[in-house]
Parts: sequence; structure tokens; C-alpha cells
Amino acid sequence: SLSERLERSFKILKGEGKISEINVAETLKDVRKALLDADVNFKIAKTFTDTVKEKAIGQNVLTSLKPNQLMVKIVHDELAQLMGGASVDINLKGSPTVILMSGLQGSGKTTFSGKLANLLKTKRSKNPLLVACDVYRPAAIEQLKVLGEQLGVPVYSDLESKNPVSIAEAAIKHAKLHGNDVVIVDTAGRLAVDEAMMNEIAAIKKAINPQEILFVVDSMTGQDAVNTAKEFNDRLDFDGVILTKLDGDTRGGAALSIRSVVNKPIKFVGTGEKMDALDVFYPERMADRILGMGDIVSLVERAQEQYDEEDARRLQKRIAKNQFDFNDFISQIQQIKKMGNIKDLAAMIPGMGKALKDVDIDDNAFKGIEAIIHSMTPLERANPAMLNGSRKQRIAAGSGTTIVDVNRLLKQFDQTSKMMKMATMSQGKLKLGKRR
Ligand code: GDP
Ligand code: MG
Repeated sequence: SLSERLERSFKILKGEGKISEINVAETLKDVRKALLDADVNFKIAKTFTDTVKEKAIGQNVLTSLKPNQLMVKIVHDELAQLMGGASVDINLKGSPTVILMSGLQGSGKTTFSGKLANLLKTKRSKNPLLVACDVYRPAAIEQLKVLGEQLGVPVYSDLESKNPVSIAEAAIKHAKLHGNDVVIVDTAGRLAVDEAMMNEIAAIKKAINPQEILFVVDSMTGQDAVNTAKEFNDRLDFDGVILTKLDGDTRGGAALSIRSVVNKPIKFVGTGEKMDALDVFYPERMADRILGMGDIVSLVERAQEQYDEEDARRLQKRIAKNQFDFNDFISQIQQIKKMGNIKDLAAMIPGMGKALKDVDIDDNAFKGIEAIIHSMTPLERANPAMLNGSRKQRIAAGSGTTIVDVNRLLKQFDQTSKMMKMATMSQGKLKLGKRR
């Protein structure tokens, strides 16, 4: 899958201290290939990787982030951006609001019409009217009637008429008379784009002047979906896209391409055949889905928010100069605790993570440590070497621990200082922050 492919390519970057042109080029080649395989349009994949490259190169890595994690974040943010950044709501102005469905046969127009009516009725206190303009197949009208009955939403149809334009016009009159504030016009599609279908839907558009024209597309149709979207948009200049059948094993690439080819927002996604299987489209969540890495992304974000770069820089200097003391130790513990899930996050602190990995880390583990450090005088915290027997005795009594606990902490501290010193030396001058 796309997410597995990307995960593998991000792994290449592991262990590097800084994102460089060489390791980015390797990773991006894989990312591009994965995008192409997931039905993302060639030009879009190229533009995408170029943008990511520009953002990644020279971006120095926060101490708390591994290069591959930073890369995931850049790719994630770029994906979300490509899909429009923010979610866009449906336009409900006008009395009544007229919403016109368009799309190929089988894309899910009728199903989505029902879902939308249901959403507007139950969540937005609207009184919608469904209109059956697919006059070619009696079964299509029946399908909409069944949905309407099931949802308690009225359906306007005219079995005598073969003219979808006049049915749509009559339906709007009907809505005004009966107090329906939203009119959802379901139309006929064909298996492929053809002139007769385009002429018909264009004529309906002209006659009823809808507030919202929605293009419904089956996300499983891949690259074809993009071409279809373009043809419909050229003719109708629609307002939004509905991606259906996202519940299956779809690759999601269509979502990326459609947005940037037609430059129209994706408004909803269909995630099943049932009437409540409808979600507002959130670009961020779709990016998560494509990457399959929602957890990593939020972990990285949390670390970025919480980890103070200046603090980290100061700490690095102190470690290098052998000045690491209990004040630093406790402030590191507090940093880790602020970030939440300690087990996951401890490893992000250089050196410290390694040292703490052998300890059974949980919130309670820190409680004893903190109590002991708090019982030290400022002078003792800054000069751990001065802790003799009687001082240890006093600290143990003050923190409600034993001299064995105090000695264990001192040993841990000693190991940590050594490992941090070693980590710092082996990494050379650690580059911090986002200097470009
Ligand atoms: P239309 O020809 O555009 O009106 O398409 P329909 O609404 O009749 O849908 C065609 C088929 O796709 C039907 O069997 C629907 O149940 C199914 N379908 C529509 N939307 C979804 C969806 O989001 N998920 C799944 N799994 N099936 C869907
Ligand atoms: Mg239909």
C-alpha cells in the first residue's frame, strides 16, 4: 500500500543527523513512485516532490525529531495543502437552496443525494426535497423514492414526463409551496462522458441556477476520475467534489489529483452504502489516511510544540562542557512529562532517552526521582559531587525515600551524564533549530 511504501522510504533517513540533498533525493524518488502507483497524476507527483524537497533541504533537525519523522511531517503537511488545506462547507444560501448532482452512472449520485438529505434534516434542521431527474430508468426513480421513504424525506418525481429540465423547474415551485428549504436534484449519468449527458445537465443548470453543483466521483476509478472531473468542470464549473466509496480498499490518489487539477474543494466523502456513511472531507485526515501514519505525525507535532529549542541548545552546551547537573536533569524530566506519553517520548531526548530506556519509565518512576532532587539544596543540585553520606541521609529523609534510592538515582544520573557526553561527542556539533 501507499502508506507502507512511504514508511519504507522514510526509513532510509533514519539515523542521519540532518536532512541532506543526497538522502532527500533518495527518499523523494520513492515517494514519487509511491504516489504514481497510487494513481496520483504524474505532473502533480512531480510538483509535489519538488515542493517537499525545497522545504526539506537544509532544514535542520530539532533535537527531538529524527530526520525521517521530520520528513513525514513535511510530506503530511504538503499532502494536506495539496488537498485544499481546510475543509469547505456546502453553500446553503438561497430560498430554497438548490443543489444539483452531477457525475457518471454508478458514481453514487443517488446514494449521496439521500445521505445529504439525511444530514441536512437530522443535523441542520432543514426540510429538504429530493428530486428524481433520472428519467431514463424507472428503477432510478424508484431507488430515490425508497431512500426518501426510509429517511422521511419527500421525493418529487413525474413518471409521465421525460424532460428533466421541466421536472427540476416544477420541483422548485413545489418546494416553495411546501416549505422545503433545500432542493436536491438527482440526475442521470452515463457510463462515460458523452455530449448528450453534458447538454442535458448544462440545460438543467441553466434553468434552475443552483447555489451548489456537486460532482460525485467514485474514488476507486483512479486516474479516470481525474479526467472525468476535468470534463465535468469544463462544462459545469461545479462548486465541489464528493468522493464516494472511500470505505473500500481505495488508494486515495484520486483525491490528491482531482483537487489540484480542477481546483475545486472536496466537500464530502462517502464511506459506505448506508445513509449515515457520510463524512465531511478534512484534508488533514486524508493526508493521515494516505500516509497511514497519523500517530507519528501527531507525536512529532507534540514534540515540536513542547520541546523548547533554546533549552535544548543550552543543554547541549552544558553537556559538552561537562556542566550537566541535577537542575538540567529535573528540567529534562519536566520536559518529558509535559509531552505526554513518556515511554514514546523519552527516546526523543538525545542521550537521555537511551539512559532512561533501561529504567522502567512511567509517571510514578519520576515521582521518586523528583522528590529526591527537590530535597537537594540548589548548591547540591549544581554540584552533585558534594553529596556525601550525611547529605544523602538528609535528602533521603526529606524526600521520604531511603539512602538506597538516593544512591540509585546518583548512579543513574552519573550514567546519564556520561552517555549524554558520549552522544554529544559522537554526533559532533549537533545542529539545532530550523535555520536555513
Ligand atoms: P448513481 O448511478 O450515481 O446514482 O449511483 P448510486 O447512488 O446508485 O450508487 C451506485 C452503487 O454504489 C450503489 O450500489 C451504491 O450502494 C454504491 N455506493 C454509493 N456510495 C457508496 C459508498 O460511499 N460506499 C460504498 N461502499 N458503496 C457506495
Ligand atoms: Mg442514480
